[in-house]
Amino acid sequence: MRIAMVGTGYVGLVSGACFSDFGHDVVCIDKDDRKIAQLHHGIMPIYEPGLENLVAANMRAGRLTFTTDLAEAVRGADAVFIAVGTPSRRGDGHADLTYVFAAAQEIARAVTGPCVVVTKSTVPVGTGDEVERIVRAANPDAAIKVVSNPEFLREGAAIEDFKRPDRVVVGTEDDDAREVMRAIYRPLSLNQSAPVFFTGRRTSELIKYAANAFLAVKITFINEIADLCEQVGADVQQVARGIGMDKRIGPKFLNAGPGYGGSCFPKDTLALLKTGADCETPLRIVEATVQVNEGRKRAMGRKVVKALGGDVRGRTIAVLGLTFKPNTDDMRDAPSLALIRSLQDAGARVRAYDPEGVEQARGMVEGVDFAEGPYAAVEGADAMVIVTEWDEFRALDLPRIATMLKVPLMVDLRNIYTEDEAAQAGIRLVGIGRKASAMHAFPAELATAAAR
Ligand code: NAD
Repeated sequence: MRIAMVGTGYVGLVSGACFSDFGHDVVCIDKDDRKIAQLHHGIMPIYEPGLENLVAANMRAGRLTFTTDLAEAVRGADAVFIAVGTPSRRGDGHADLTYVFAAAQEIARAVTGPCVVVTKSTVPVGTGDEVERIVRAANPDAAIKVVSNPEFLREGAAIEDFKRPDRVVVGTEDDDAREVMRAIYRPLSLNQSAPVFFTGRRTSELIKYAANAFLAVKITFINEIADLCEQVGADVQQVARGIGMDKRIGPKFLNAGPGYGGSCFPKDTLALLKTGADCETPLRIVEATVQVNEGRKRAMGRKVVKALGGDVRGRTIAVLGLTFKPNTDDMRDAPSLALIRSLQDAGARVRAYDPEGVEQARGMVEGVDFAEGPYAAVEGADAMVIVTEWDEFRALDLPRIATMLKVPLMVDLRNIYTEDEAAQAGIRLVGIGRKASAMHAFPAELATAAAR
């Protein structure tokens, strides 16, 4: 199959590379010429484990190319995927479909033969109808079918997710389009992955939003249970384990933390709420989830201030981890951003380290010192906060850290460490959803130092 991928970002690049690895001929298109120039030189514009090798191998095999010339690339393609961004529209939270509609128009003008246009971007229900209208208006004679095929990959595990997905959802009412999509995903059946799930186009569009909203609800639910644990002396990790053993609930997405972030959940929950409102069908559970999560991000800043005795003016806080999750450089809507702002508002200085996110973070936060590594971030700081559970933070030399911090206090927003481990190193640990035991309470002299 000849595939054109319009949009070579986190989704387009991974999807394009994986499709070419399946044996298809793929050309990835982006209007960002810097990105395309980098790819021509084998430089990845994003950080995603395994991507560089996958791209290089398929470029060498002649199955994967990159261009800025959309018209040339889509001509003769069996399928053209739209994988452009659908950010929140500024001001109202609706999905901004400008890029999708512009891409649809460009594609329609360029294609000649029969072709399937596949929306991989996350788009609200009914967008496929509008894309079809745009395509027909721009090129009434071309036999173009419009299909929905939302993407469920997770950054950080994107290649594995793409090649071994729980499911592939395809929305179309057209038999020919269904056959093209079946052929594109046929290599997955050799992996014994889940089958392609064919459904209607509108249903497919809604599946993506319903899935993301459900996951956001699940995270927010355990986060609120974590708050309750702190009040009643229970341990949220044990609660999560205890409920997760129930197969109806399942163990995944029950890690309490600083609130969800990233390039998908925040914007997709908002967009779903807008769809609900437009259809006079309020989605109150999702509404509450969005509110609770927003509040939580800044509450994490207050948690750090409180742990330091209530006054952080002039104090330096080391922040370890900036990206919304490990193994990505994506900083979009990362909880660290709200946390840092809230610490700065309280008068603290922030020194931060992240293995991959610093380049993007520089453009998103002001007044932050960036360190070269975790220990450089911690050296001489008043306290430290773990925000993202990168592997490199899982085995820190705690006794060394204890000697480097002015106040041996670690706020661990990912519950990587136990109180006992920290206490053995002489560090007071404040986690999520765990009431600090009296045994490990802040020693009086440190409390005084913290309050100074
Ligand atoms: P991204 O911002 O990383 O990439 C989008 C790319 O499209 C950019 O490089 C941009 O330059 C390019 N582009 C925009 N208009 C174009 C045009 N007319 N022609 C050529 N290129 C164009 O976005 P992303 O994170 O890959 O997300 C893409 C879509 O996939 C979104 O709808 C998102 O919600 C959805 N999605 C993302 C993820 C994820 O983890 N990032 C997962 C599942 C679904």
